[in-house]
Amino acid sequence: MQLRCNTLIAGAGISGLTAAFYITQKDPETFVLFDGNKPGGAISTLHRDGWTLETGPNTIVLTNTYLNKLIADLNLEPELLTADRVAGNRFIVRNKTLIPLPGGPGAFLKTPLFSTKAKLRLFAEPFIKRGTNPDESLANFVRRRLGEEFLTYAINPFVAGVYAGNPENLSARLAFPMLTVLEQKYGSLIKGQFRIKPEDRKPGDLPRAKAPMVTFKQGNQTLTDRMAAALGDRLKPQSRITRITKHVGTDARFEIETQSGNLYRCQQLLLTLPLHALRNVSWEGFGNENPAKLLPEVTHPPLNVVHLGFRREAVRHPLDGFGMLIPEAENMQILGCLFNSSLFPDRTPDDKQFVLLTCFIGGSRNPDFAMESEADVYRRVLEDISQLLGTRGEPALKHLTRWPKAIPQYSTSYQQVYEALERMEQKHSGLHFLGNFRNGIAVPDCVRNAMRFAENFTPATTT
Ligand SMILES: Cc1cc2nc3c(=O)[nH]c(=O)nc-3n(C[C@H](O)[C@H](O)[C@H](O)COP(=O)(O)OP(=O)(O)OC[C@H]3O[C@@H](n4cnc5c(N)ncnc54)[C@H](O)[C@@H]3O)c2cc1C
Repeated sequence: MQLRCNTLIAGAGISGLTAAFYITQKDPETFVLFDGNKPGGAISTLHRDGWTLETGPNTIVLTNTYLNKLIADLNLEPELLTADRVAGNRFIVRNKTLIPLPGGPGAFLKTPLFSTKAKLRLFAEPFIKRGTNPDESLANFVRRRLGEEFLTYAINPFVAGVYAGNPENLSARLAFPMLTVLEQKYGSLIKGQFRIKPEDRKPGDLPRAKAPMVTFKQGNQTLTDRMAAALGDRLKPQSRITRITKHVGTDARFEIETQSGNLYRCQQLLLTLPLHALRNVSWEGFGNENPAKLLPEVTHPPLNVVHLGFRREAVRHPLDGFGMLIPEAENMQILGCLFNSSLFPDRTPDDKQFVLLTCFIGGSRNPDFAMESEADVYRRVLEDISQLLGTRGEPALKHLTRWPKAIPQYSTSYQQVYEALERMEQKHSGLHFLGNFRNGIAVPDCVRNAMRFAENFTPATTT
């Protein structure tokens, strides 16, 4: 098959679908190619015998106005579920015990999570001078400003929960831009909290503390399914892209070949494939300015998502919170665990009788654990949660999802990725890159970036 169009979008995760949903309103001659059968990319919900399992993102925090607008434009507000108030309690494990993360200054002074020395160290933060290294690691940034213990018992587990990563490898500026904004503009994270202005945030971003945490009645895949339905047969599944060729002197300048031999010609090409997939495409006619040549290898650590359902009476802990995160210093096997059935109703066949947990194992901390046999993965997870949550016996539900390349790590050398993407876009007019590898990995970041791209997008006039 051969097809000509104005605009072609590669990839149907949240980035590609959101861009396509808005771009088709400007340019109906837009098509979306993606690998596999199921649109949504990392967003995927399974329904198994009354259990609702999120194999990718479990919760979405409405941290920007763009995501709110997308939900409204898709008429999805009636489908939203807001997390129970209990989600405000987050546990960190110290000495194999779940300790609530303190929610305010009073609780902070009393918490056993940090030693008195670590608490006093925090008072020095406003007096520490600004850093000068733009490629400083998150770990060094936190060590410098907040001290070693805060790194060990707050930031290390938090980063494992968000990036499945390690703060020693991540760039403070690129992985958590707000930290460096507060330091550089206000000279202190603590002072900055009180003086932060709307223009310090990314466009459309709202204060995170006030942002509701949500899912949809039928799970997060509702969001991507609704966009896929709106796109209809503009969406082309089973279209693994193997080659992209640039032709000079023709208006349909990009030719895309899929594994099944289909050919597409387009004037504008928006690539939302993961970075590792971009590097594996065969690039012709792009000279040296192509992803295979210019993009550095970026670590995407493997991660396993393990769903476990138990009868309520088989779990000693009341699960009265969002979940627990486990610092590396605790030498346990899992990275953390979400208490899904405490957050949202109807995630189990019967909420009176059952609870649902989602555990994470692998990541940068223990990549080998993610590669082990199913039996070994379950064994490790069950060992940890029986010790921490007092679970007993065989679960009523077990489900394992493997993400061999889960999340791109915005490392201390990641600036090279940004520079390479900009260079390719400048060199090849009509070529664009969008996805979780640029300006944020969270779902709201991907939505904001895609909607802003679509806002500024000018369709080509002829084919
Ligand atoms: C396990 C896990 C848990 C997460 N938890 C959260 C969370 O709780 N909250 C949150 O906000 N974020 C979370 N994230 C992050 C967030 O879900 C992702 O960063 C985001 O969904 C990525 O969207 P994307 O469209 O950029 O890429 P993807 O979703 O990866 O989509 C890429 C698309 O490219 C296609 N593709 C790949 N190769 C090819 C090829 N060669 N040819 C054609 N198509 C191709 C794929 O089929 C897919 O459609 C999580 C991520 C993971 C993996």
